[in-house]
Amino acid sequence: MGRAAMVGQVISGNEVAKSIRAELKGEVAKMNAGGITPGLVVIIVGEDPASQVYVRKKGEACQELGIYSETVRLPASASEDELLELIDKYNKDPKFDGILVQLPLPKHISEGKVLLRLDPGKDVDGFHPVNVGKMVVGAEDCYLPCTPAGIQELLVRSGNDPKGKHVVVLGRSNIVGKPITNILLQKAPGADATVTICHSRTQNLQNFTRQADIVIAAMGSPAFVKADMVKDGVVVIDVGVNRINDPQAKGGCRLVGDVDFEPVKAKAKAITPVPGGVGPMTITMLMKNTVKAAKIHHKWKD
Ligand code: NAP
Repeated sequence: MGRAAMVGQVISGNEVAKSIRAELKGEVAKMNAGGITPGLVVIIVGEDPASQVYVRKKGEACQELGIYSETVRLPASASEDELLELIDKYNKDPKFDGILVQLPLPKHISEGKVLLRLDPGKDVDGFHPVNVGKMVVGAEDCYLPCTPAGIQELLVRSGNDPKGKHVVVLGRSNIVGKPITNILLQKAPGADATVTICHSRTQNLQNFTRQADIVIAAMGSPAFVKADMVKDGVVVIDVGVNRINDPQAKGGCRLVGDVDFEPVKAKAKAITPVPGGVGPMTITMLMKNTVKAAKIHHKWKD
């Protein structure tokens, strides 16, 4: 396909998230009518400003959808034992179908220990090793991590099904790169892709991206993916969120992704913007996982 034929569709995460939330709202309304209210507790330790914003948005999303939510705030000085005891308490509390411990945690608290302490059946963030293992083997009763699950929804709902495509993932983190690789590799609807994963030690990275039908950039490196690194007709999912100084922008800085947006868009079949692409999907998938957990816990069939 020649360049002139490219559409350069901008995939709106805001729109896709809105339609998923509308579906969830309908499902929750039916559950509410049946006497069931899904519940989510969010635990935050310390005062990290970005985490405070995420936690507030999670509470607002719950309210919008009819999900009961509580936020528990511990001071940065809270001990690991205090946090573990709190998790034990919510593991046992039937009011809550999902427990989310906002990451990152202060340095004196072991993230691994905390994640292991969660009841895997309430781990709606999908980071407990049991859920990670289930994701790898493609088990249905697992909670997929929210950002990669959101990426899959964006691809499918924008008409860019990864089936049979070569997907190149840039980044191998446990929260984005590795899980999206595993999800798209599954022998399953919305997956069935051939996946290559690149990272900072990959040699000649552009040789891989130039072969990609779909590029998923999750590096945290502003405008790293340039137009000459992708082929005509590529689909690009930009996960990166980078704050760069810009005296013209409100507050003196603006958000950019890992993709050099305008030149890459000119070559692409479809691309997600930053902000307004992957970002709005993450909390929406948390809501979806919470509703799924409530359905499992209450044996809700619908
Ligand atoms: P991370 O843990 O820092 O991992 C970054 C990955 O990118 C690593 O695997 C690293 O390779 C690789 N990398 C970095 N620079 C590279 C380069 N120049 N060439 C090739 N590979 C490179 O980051 P993350 O947590 O996955 O997040 C990635 C980005 O997504 C960040 O901007 C983050 O803010 C954003 N994010 C957005 C959302 C959302 O909801 N929109 C959610 C999560 C993350 P090594 O492993 O070799 O170091």
